[in-house]
Order: sequence, then C-alpha cells, then structure tokens
Amino acid sequence: MQKSFDVVILGAGISGLLLASELSKNNSVLVIEQRVEIPTSSYWLTPSSSLKFAPHLRQCIDGFHENMEFIAFDDSEFSLKGEYAVWNTEKTVKVLSDVVKNNGGVISLDDSFFSLKYTTNRICIKTSQADYLARLSIDCMGYSSPIVHAKGIVKIYGYYILHGMLMEMSKVLNPVGLHNVMLQREPSFLEVFPLNRDRAYVTVIKPLSSLTEKSNIQRDFKFITRDTRYKDVLKVIPAGSEKGRNVESSHFVGGVVPVGRLQKTALDRIFFYGLSAQVNPAASATALTRILENYVGVAARIQHQLDCNKLQSHDLKPCLLAHLNGFNRSFQLSLFKDILHWNSDDFRLLIEWMNELDGQIVHDMIFSQLRVRDLPILKSLKFALYRRNFLLLKPVLTGLLKQF
Ligand SMILES: Cc1cc2nc3c(=O)[nH]c(=O)nc-3n(C[C@H](O)[C@H](O)[C@H](O)COP(=O)(O)OP(=O)(O)OC[C@H]3O[C@@H](n4cnc5c(N)ncnc54)[C@H](O)[C@@H]3O)c2cc1C
Repeated sequence: MQKSFDVVILGAGISGLLLASELSKNNSVLVIEQRVEIPTSSYWLTPSSSLKFAPHLRQCIDGFHENMEFIAFDDSEFSLKGEYAVWNTEKTVKVLSDVVKNNGGVISLDDSFFSLKYTTNRICIKTSQADYLARLSIDCMGYSSPIVHAKGIVKIYGYYILHGMLMEMSKVLNPVGLHNVMLQREPSFLEVFPLNRDRAYVTVIKPLSSLTEKSNIQRDFKFITRDTRYKDVLKVIPAGSEKGRNVESSHFVGGVVPVGRLQKTALDRIFFYGLSAQVNPAASATALTRILENYVGVAARIQHQLDCNKLQSHDLKPCLLAHLNGFNRSFQLSLFKDILHWNSDDFRLLIEWMNELDGQIVHDMIFSQLRVRDLPILKSLKFALYRRNFLLLKPVLTGLLKQF
C-alpha cells in the first residue's frame, strides 16, 4: 500500500528543510533525500540582518564578521564593511531536521526521486524506495532538479561550480568573498569563510557557461591552498581527527549554483523552491539570504492553499513571494551572466569600481538590496565615463529598463 502525506518535499537541502520545518507544524510531511546523510557540503554567509526573519536559528551561527574582502590578481582589493554571519552547516542541518522530526515529519534518506504521475486528487511520487501519494509536492532538488529540466521550464545561462574543503586555519582571516589569486583568461576565485575553532570553509569558485566545459577547478584549488600565500594559513585537517571517517570526503564542501530563470513557478500539485526555483539569479553569496527572508511567508501561503484545497498551478503561483524586486533581479542576472565571460582584468576593474562607490551601495549590490531611488547608478555612470570602465553599465541599464 502506498504511503500518503499532505506534503512530500523533494530534497533535504536548506530550502527543503526550512519549508519542512514550517509545514510539518500542521501537516504530515515527508522529505526525500537521495544521499545517505543529509548533505553538509554547502556553507553560508549572510548579512546578520537575515536573522531577524529566523531568530530561532541564531544558535546555528558560528560567528559574526565586520569585513569581507574582494581581491584581484594584482593584490588590489576592496574591503566590504558590514555585519556578516557565517553559518555552521552541520549545526543548521541538525537543528532543522530535529524540528521536522519533532513535529512528526519523516526524512527518508538514500531515497532518490525518479518520476511522478497524477492520480485523482493526489500526485504519486515514485522514488528508489517506494511510491508515495501526496496532496502537494515541493521540488527543492537544487540546480539539477529532474522536474524543471524535463519539463523544459528553466532557462540556464551558466553555472558557478564550487569545489573545496573545511580546512584548518592557523591565522585569523576576514571572510574572503572572492580572490582571483591567479591571472587567468577564465578566472577561478578563492572563497574563505572562517569558522571559530580555527577552521574555515575554503572553496574555489569557477564560473562556466556549461557543465560539459572542462574545468580545472580541482587543480586550481590544490595550487592555491598548497603553493600560494594561503599555504601557511590553510591546512588539510589531519587524518584521524575524525575517527572512522574518510577525512577528504567528510570535509568536502562544494556544489553547483545555476545562473538562470524559471519560466513557471508551479505546476499542478508541484511547487518549486530554493535553487530549483532560481530563488536568486546565481551568486553563491546570496541565495540563503533570499530564502530566509521569505520561507515563513511562502509556507503560510502554501498552508492557505492546502486548507482551501486549491493546488492547481495557477493557485500555487502566488505562493512564490517575490524574492527580489525587478531591478535587483535583472541587475544580478545580467551581472552574473557577464561574469561567466570575464577575464582576470575584468575582475580587477570591478574592484577598482567598487572602491569608487559608497560601501553601502556595494553591500546592497551584492545582497540585492539596491534601491533605485538612492541613485547609486548616477555615480556609477559618471565613474564609468571618466575611467572608460563599462563593466557594470549593462547590468545597471538592464535593471533600470526593468523599472520602466
Ligand atoms: C559550496 C556552496 C557555498 C555557498 N555559499 C553560500 C553563501 O555563502 N550564502 C548563500 O546565501 N548561499 C550560498 N550558496 C548557495 C546555496 O546553494 C544555497 O544558499 C542553498 O544551499 C541552496 O539550497 P537548496 O536547498 O535550494 O539546494 P541544494 O542545497 O542543492 O539541495 C538540493 C537537495 O536535493 C537533493 N536531491 C537532488 N536530486 C535529488 C533526487 N533526484 N532525489 C532526492 N533528492 C535529490 C540533493 O541531494 C540536495 O540535498 C552556496 C552554495 C554552495 C554549493
């Protein structure tokens, strides 16, 4: 006999767990995850202000920082000032999965989504372990969601691939947002987000137009962490410090963040959320900020639709609260599409540009909180004309066009 749930959530990443933690308060909820353990390979830095949307998750913050560095190959740098929180991934995953289980929700591990079909008043979700019936399913399967790709409802422009490790850190570092250590035609960027207890999430980020392109990301990661100035600061956590676990794989961090646009926010009895819903046009630095801002509101709207049993695609569409206003979405999409084709010198010019702008504007640009009425844009245009530095012109103009 098929097991039946109000809601089946596909994917136990942060977006699936956050929605499950809310929806399991009033519904029977099943979360399906293909991995044998809930993955801890992502990590997050958000502005501390994001915590006001989820104050109960403050316990998951490892530490707060006042600067984040952006550095070009020639050591020119921009230091972003603000209040940034680095999340402890293992703790966040544990806290959220405990909430789901304490609310009576079920998390089924080692269980891969395969297919679906519609039955009367239900959707049947077929996985490697069973067939489940649900009133509603929520796709939180990230960049590779078979549903959005098979239904052809996503336009992908490229990907940001991240590859790295949780490492030992012998000297206190500020968070490094992006450091283009090596001069390259297709640059890779080091990201370092320090944790307390002398550890840091360390990855190399490589922008790529397609996943089939050859990426030297593993080679770059090894080179940067073993042969540059970072070799004295960052060390592989020695084997044996985590009993019985394969150190290399247990400390792996990485993944893929797509740059794209979802053309439909929902199908009948299927709602998309998180990376599979293109919650943010790329930017490994801001997707969680968006999710935290709105997951409680999204869950409340989904609850309303469940209560009145209206679960067709047009009923579910309004559940997707706007993650970003039109200006920020178009600006970010245009910028992150452009970065896919930048070389090292383009990134150096971006740093030059960021140093010309007010720090608050750069913060708002990175975290998608720009307000057109503040007119940072005019200052940008003036700088661009004087210096013949046109990198941000297209994203700014694309964002502005969206306004009118
Ligand atoms: C290394 C890294 C660093 C990042 N840093 C930041 C940051 O600092 N700040 C920030 O805001 N954002 C950051 N991001 C972006 C980040 O991905 C998002 O914030 C968030 O983790 C996306 O969560 P998600 O749940 O939507 O997708 P995912 O985390 O991709 O989760 C998808 C889940 O679905 C599961 N799944 C996939 N296919 C199937 C299937 N067929 N059956 C069952 N399960 C399936 C996967 O195993 C996975 O657990 C980072 C991303 C990465 C990869």
